[in-house]
Amino acid sequence: MNLAGHLKHSVFQIISSIAKEEGIEAYVIGGFVRDLLIDKPDSLPKDIDIVVIGSGIEMAEKVKRAIDEEVPLAIFKNFGTAMIKWGDTEVEFVGARRESYRRDSRKPMVENGTLEDDQNRRDFTINALALSLNKQNYGDLLDPFDGVKHLEEGLITTPRNPGTTFSDDPLRMLRGIRFATRLEFTIEPSTFEAIIANRERIRIVSQERISDELNKIMMTLQPGRGFLLLDQSGLLEIVFPELHAMKGVDEVNGQFHKDNFLHTLEVLDNLAYRSDNLWLRWGALLHDIAKPRTKRFEPDNGWTFHAHEFIGAKMIPGIFRRLKLPLNEKMKYVQKLVQLHLRPIVLSQEIVTDSAVRRLIFDAGEDLEDLMSLCEADITSKNERTVKRHLKNFQIVREKIIEIEEKDSVRNFQPPISGDDIQRAFGIPPSRSVGIIKNAIKEAILDGEIPNEFEAAYQLMLKQGESLGLTVQNEKEKGD
Ligand code: ATP
Ligand code: MG
Repeated sequence: MNLAGHLKHSVFQIISSIAKEEGIEAYVIGGFVRDLLIDKPDSLPKDIDIVVIGSGIEMAEKVKRAIDEEVPLAIFKNFGTAMIKWGDTEVEFVGARRESYRRDSRKPMVENGTLEDDQNRRDFTINALALSLNKQNYGDLLDPFDGVKHLEEGLITTPRNPGTTFSDDPLRMLRGIRFATRLEFTIEPSTFEAIIANRERIRIVSQERISDELNKIMMTLQPGRGFLLLDQSGLLEIVFPELHAMKGVDEVNGQFHKDNFLHTLEVLDNLAYRSDNLWLRWGALLHDIAKPRTKRFEPDNGWTFHAHEFIGAKMIPGIFRRLKLPLNEKMKYVQKLVQLHLRPIVLSQEIVTDSAVRRLIFDAGEDLEDLMSLCEADITSKNERTVKRHLKNFQIVREKIIEIEEKDSVRNFQPPISGDDIQRAFGIPPSRSVGIIKNAIKEAILDGEIPNEFEAAYQLMLKQGESLGLTVQNEKEKGD
């Protein structure tokens, strides 16, 4: 097979010319070739891996000089690699190598090798495909391990013995599951057996790399499948015990609860269908995370998971810290989604009062739409009519939200009277009384007892102040 037609980008021509002048061989290898064969895209994939039979760094330096604009070049001497960023394309150069591993590290010892050696060190047959950039066979596909056949069959398998491949670098187990999920491929049975056998080796991989793969699985079209594979391989129990704890069904007096793990994966896939916001997807994955801890069987009520939304929200920082996920506003956002995930459901089941909707808008703020999406994704009944009925109820809640939003703007609630205003009016320093009055005003607005306006809030302030024994020292400055 020849794919020269897809190698028109100037960077390939430049590499090809330099290779000829220097009398060394160069190839495009890995993900670029794989994705080219899958999609045959018109635009160039964003990252390109080049392997040269010689020094990758020297090749990169020559390519940089040959490009007639200024492009950044990063050299990683320790790894023997170099990277050029040309526009939004990243081209990575490496010398062909042969690798050997020690038991305690996924960092190999390397020596120079042939193209075959280099293809042989690749993780999967579909990632070991190379295209020649040499003049005599420009664009020729070099496929020593049947990668093209496996692409056609939708199969993930390794060039070498899978056990050695995974034991050498256990990160490959997660990569395999990630590719199987993203491409909707099957992991070849003996390859999957080797993952199961080597699952404990994942412990030598850094948490950053593990979480990087988890995030990539999260961003696929159907991440649920990835987590199912993680579970079936035994990796989930090691890398994500809280999620693993959600598995299974208990029975008391003939009453079962649903399998919270499978339910969660269904919610995640539903959500992924609606949104590609990574953190909203994390919210879906974690929304019921405290169910195992809060599970009780109550003779009168059956299975209950009291307060699982609050306890779940409390678990988020610990999980994020261990997974080395960001501990910033992204985490707070996920916490908020977990904590509030039952609120719209409760609303949709009752007669929706204005004040309940107002409080939801206030508590969820700018994340209300995301919360609604999560709740809609959370409807997973097998019965289509039940699903339809719930979705319709949510639609009513959504309409009510719009209606209330138009009436009172509580989403980014700014109290019409500030703490300063209260201090000035009564001539008092910052104190408990100020807080009490402020809170009373907020509550009254959220409950719809007074409108979200200065004058009404001022009157309530006076009333509250009076009952606290305060008298007005300064007349109002705001208002009309
Ligand atoms: P993507 O960029 O879409 O995540 P990719 O296959 O390009 O997929 P990269 O991480 O960019 O993945 O790696 C480029 C190539 O390097 C891979 O196609 C594979 O040939 C090789 N490779 C990457 N990581 C490993 C690894 N841990 N073990 C063996 N080969 C690897
Ligand atoms: Mg890549």
